[in-house]
Amino acid sequence: MWPLPQPRHGARDSYTTCISRTKEMGEEKRRTRLTEATDAVEEAGQQFRQAAGTKTLHTLKSENFQVPGIEKKEKVTTWLYDYGMLDGPGRDIYDELISAPKHGRCPLCGHGTVRTLDHFLPKAHFPALCVDPLNLVPACSDCNKAKSDDHAVTAEKTPFHPYLDDIDGEKWLAAKVIHEDDSVRLHFRVSPPPSWDHVLTARAHHHFRVFGLRTMYAQQANRHLGEIRGHLQGLLAAGGEETVRAHLRDGAASSLSDRPNGWHGVTYRTLAGDETFCRGAFGSG
Ligand SMILES: [Zn+2]
Repeated sequence: MWPLPQPRHGARDSYTTCISRTKEMGEEKRRTRLTEATDAVEEAGQQFRQAAGTKTLHTLKSENFQVPGIEKKEKVTTWLYDYGMLDGPGRDIYDELISAPKHGRCPLCGHGTVRTLDHFLPKAHFPALCVDPLNLVPACSDCNKAKSDDHAVTAEKTPFHPYLDDIDGEKWLAAKVIHEDDSVRLHFRVSPPPSWDHVLTARAHHHFRVFGLRTMYAQQANRHLGEIRGHLQGLLAAGGEETVRAHLRDGAASSLSDRPNGWHGVTYRTLAGDETFCRGAFGSG
């Protein structure tokens, strides 16, 4: 949901690095078999990129992304990803990918801290892409778990891919303030801009649902509201509702310039636009 620059390593580059010390993982024969599959793995990477370019990742078939000459039972992803990348010669590539997001912020939810790399197309079904950097997305543990082995089956159900999709040029995250008795809370939703087609809109809703963003953002915003309530009461007492509104607008502008469509900036923008709130209905907890 939040864009990242594309990795500088290609599919072949990463694969050959990851198998370069295969001998130490076991047998010499294994290295020979993996080396023989290099061209096929590169071609799988090209197919992946081609489909990414035409936004047809959902049409890719698992049978075309096996590593030739290796039986399924041989668990090739353990050789390649676990022994070749995580704990092997490809570790530098892994470290470069996982450290790409600014301040370690998860690009899938925009909130959690990156702890792992998520295989956008799952390695169990697409082993030929298991060390392809374009298929390895930094993620927080919650997003990694939420996505699990689920992968794009239709255009509409393709989650956003931080290297391939950039939707931050427009406002798409909205919230509303809900006043109930003496409490105030925020409710978040996807608000598709007019330029989005139905596929992009459906993907945003799907992404929001899969990663539980409505609940996550509401929890964060409502906690934050508790933290700033005392400050807002002070501003209201000192300068009235205009002072409160100006403070919230400043907060929104500052936060949204750093993070367009971030929950924090959207919270401030929404509160600044709510007259009842600015007049002092800050809730009691
Ligand atoms: Zn996340």
